[in-house]
Amino acid sequence: MKRTKVIEVLQSTEYGKEVVVMGWVRTHRDSKTVHFIALNDGSTIKNVQIVADTDKFDPEVFKKITTGACLNVTGILTESPAAGQASEIHATQIGVYGTCGSDYPMQKKGQSFEYMRQSAHMRLRTNTFGAVMRIRHNMAIAIHKYFHDHGYFYFHTPIITASDCEGAGQMFQVTTKNLYDLKKDENGSIIYDDDFFGKQTSLTVSGQLEGELGATALGQIYTFGPTFRAENSNTPRHLAEFWMIEPEVCFIDLDDLMDLEEDFIKYCVNWALENCKDDLEFLNKMIDKGLINRLQSVIKEKFVRLPYTKGIEILQEAIKQGKKFEFPCNWGDDLASEHERYLVEEYFKKPVIMTNYPKAIKAFYMKIDDKKPIYNGKEMEETVQGTDVLFPAIGEIIGGSVREENYDKLVCEITARHIPMKDMWWYLDTRKFGSCPHGGFGLGFERLILFVTGMQNIRDVIPFPRTPKSAEF
Ligand code: ATP
Ligand code: MN
Repeated sequence: MKRTKVIEVLQSTEYGKEVVVMGWVRTHRDSKTVHFIALNDGSTIKNVQIVADTDKFDPEVFKKITTGACLNVTGILTESPAAGQASEIHATQIGVYGTCGSDYPMQKKGQSFEYMRQSAHMRLRTNTFGAVMRIRHNMAIAIHKYFHDHGYFYFHTPIITASDCEGAGQMFQVTTKNLYDLKKDENGSIIYDDDFFGKQTSLTVSGQLEGELGATALGQIYTFGPTFRAENSNTPRHLAEFWMIEPEVCFIDLDDLMDLEEDFIKYCVNWALENCKDDLEFLNKMIDKGLINRLQSVIKEKFVRLPYTKGIEILQEAIKQGKKFEFPCNWGDDLASEHERYLVEEYFKKPVIMTNYPKAIKAFYMKIDDKKPIYNGKEMEETVQGTDVLFPAIGEIIGGSVREENYDKLVCEITARHIPMKDMWWYLDTRKFGSCPHGGFGLGFERLILFVTGMQNIRDVIPFPRTPKSAEF
C-alpha cells in the first residue's frame, strides 16, 4: 500500500479510510490502555498522532518506539477528540524500520544551537531545522519564480575563476599542484604554467562580472549559485561558502535599480508569509516573538532611500545629541554595522537603501556620480551609484550598483586601483563593443533566510556551514 505524507493526512477528512504513514518518532507516551506516538515525516512541522491500543500489540514493539526511531504505521484515519488537531491515526500495524538509542544527539528538547552545530548532520531532524530548511526551499522557489515571471534568464557563471579583481586576498585557491613541491621563479613567485589551468585560479567571490556579459546579450539575467569568501570574519553574518543571487539588468538607472531591489525582496518576504505559514508560526512562537510582525511590516513599508552624505549628517547629529559609537563615522568612512543599525532600527525604524557612497570605499566598476556632494558647506570627493539595502537585525542584505559603462572611465579606475589589466580584457570588451547603461545587485541567500526565519546565526540557516576552522560533514 502506498505511503501518505503526514501533511496530506492532516488535511484529509476521509475518516474511516486506511492509511500508511512513515516517519520518525518525536514523542511517545502511554497510559495503561493506550499509547500515543507523535510521528513526523518532514513534510510539515506538524506531527500526526498515532493512537495504539496497548493490548493489540506485542509489548516489545512499544519498547522500540523511542524518540528518533523510524516507523511505518498502518491505521484508520479518525477524527481526533484532542485539541489542536483535526485527525489522528488508530494503528492496526506498526513496523519499526530503525530503532534509535539514547545516544541519539537530538534526544533532548531545548538543546542550544551551538550544541546542535556539532551534530549538524542530525540537527536537520529537529523541528527548528526542519522549519528553516523548508523555508529555505520555498525562498529558492520564490527567487526563481520572481525572475522567471519578470523575464529574466537564469544564467550560470563559473565557480572556478582566474580573475581576482574583487576578492584579492579573500579567495580560495584551486590547484592540482603538489603543494609539497612547488616550483618558483627567481623572484620566489609560484609558477602556475604547469598547473591544471595553466594559471592561478580560485573559487568565485561573485558571478557579477560574467553576469554582466550575460546581461549585455540577453537583456536581463540572474545568477543563483555558490559563492566563496576566505574572509576570516567570524561573525554571525558571514560564511566562507554561501549562496548568492545576482540579477544584472540592461537599460536601468539608479532609481530603477532601487525599485527592483525593493520589489524583489518584498516579493520574497510575502512569498514566505503565504507559503510557509505553519513553519513561520512555529518560529514565531519558539525563536522570535516579533518575527511575523516584522515580516508583515517590511512588506507594507516604503524603504527609505538615503544618500550616504545625508546618512553621515544624521549620524553626526546623533553623536552631538550624545549617541556613542565605537567606530568613527566621518564623511569618507565605511559605515560599521553599529551605524547601519542605528539608522535602520532607531532612526528610521524601517529598511534603508543607502546610495551614492564615496568612490574610495566601493568597487571599481560602480558608476561615478555627475556631481560631487556638498557636506558641511564643502564639496567632497567623488561618489558612486552603489546601493546597500540595510535591514533590521541583519544589516546589509543586498549590495548593488549601476555599473560604469564608459570605457575610458573604467580603465582609469582599474589603473588607479592597480588591478592587473591582463585579467580584465574580456570584461572591458562589454564597454568596447556596444556598451550600454546597466546595473544589478547581489543578495546573500542566507542573509535573506536569517531575516525570514528570525534565526540569529547564519550557521543555522544553511544545512552544512563552512566557516573558519569548521568544515565537518
Ligand atoms: P559585508 O560588508 O556584510 O561583508 P559585502 O559588502 O562584502 O558584505 P557584497 O560583496 O556586496 O557584500 O556581497 C553581496 C551580498 O552578499 C551582501 O549584501 C550579503 O548579503 C552577501 N554576503 C557577502 N559576504 C557574505 C558572507 N561571507 N557570507 C554570507 N553572505 C555574504
Ligand atoms: Mn564582506
